[in-house]
Amino acid sequence: MVILAGEPVAQRLLDETQKAHDAFQKTTGRAACLAAIIVGDSPASVLYVRKKTEKANSLGIESRVFELSSLVRPYELKILIETLNEDPAIDAILVQRPTHIPDRDISLWIAPHKDVDGFHPLNAGNLALGNPCVTPCTPLGILAMLEHYKINLSSTCIVGRSPLVGKPLATLLTSHNATVTLCHSKTQNLKAVTQQADLVIVAVGHAHLLDRSFFKQDAYVIDVGINHKNGKLQGDVNHDGIEDVVAGISPVPGGVGPVTIAALMKNTVLCANLSTQFLRAQTASDISIFDE
Ligand code: NDP
Repeated sequence: MVILAGEPVAQRLLDETQKAHDAFQKTTGRAACLAAIIVGDSPASVLYVRKKTEKANSLGIESRVFELSSLVRPYELKILIETLNEDPAIDAILVQRPTHIPDRDISLWIAPHKDVDGFHPLNAGNLALGNPCVTPCTPLGILAMLEHYKINLSSTCIVGRSPLVGKPLATLLTSHNATVTLCHSKTQNLKAVTQQADLVIVAVGHAHLLDRSFFKQDAYVIDVGINHKNGKLQGDVNHDGIEDVVAGISPVPGGVGPVTIAALMKNTVLCANLSTQFLRAQTASDISIFDE
């Protein structure tokens, strides 16, 4: 069984991103800048954001962190995002999303060319139309993993249909010629469906929801889940005894996580280039950055 480690894939993405950022700096004379907004002081959110900004800084990308109270009102967050949208020194905006403000509102507030997570309806729509611009980081990272390990996509089952992972991933893989079955909590007899697939990607957010009995012999499994249980990180798949069944599985931690952060860096440099084009387009109104 192959362990589908994220680190080599992440390193390859980071090397590509470093080159793209060097080229950006050469052309513009400045570093790209990622703004990260954290709402509340949850240690997990603070840690996630710190990991991302440290990775950005290691590539020479600047970062600015905005810490807001967990009681922040929606309009206060909107005003901050709008200020960052207008600030030419900021290229990409990341929001560690609070639970009391709907995701769809936050996605709409961020300018599409600074939408580093790729959640704005314009970016989601372009992805659905097969013309992706900024693609959500986890699906982008998973695609890089599948390409790196040369995994066949012809029979793919995705478990989980969130707007963050499952849905954009299904769209992205379909445009790479995968035949995708998308499952969710209302899927009848999930096991019978996953057992048919050569590749199963699980993003449900329930520790060990699937075990070895869900997979056919020699299938590949990407375990996206990150669940904090009994002081440990656990995936959505129970890896016990799985080596007798599957041909390869991504570990948790050390699988999709590092690749997602690397994909975020790639998107930051993409947004920096889009933001530069956007500024130019403001003085030459015939340029549409999303046509290029
Ligand atoms: P969401 O809670 O937004 O979505 C979960 C999805 O799983 C929903 O579509 C839901 O179905 C489905 N689901 C829930 N229970 C079942 C079940 N019993 N059977 C089948 N489907 C089920 O989660 P996310 O997509 O945001 O995240 C999923 C996991 O991936 C989490 O553990 C998260 O931490 C992790 N994650 C990891 C990342 C990484 O970098 N490694 C990045 C992003 C997420 P329905 O739509 O019917 O409710």
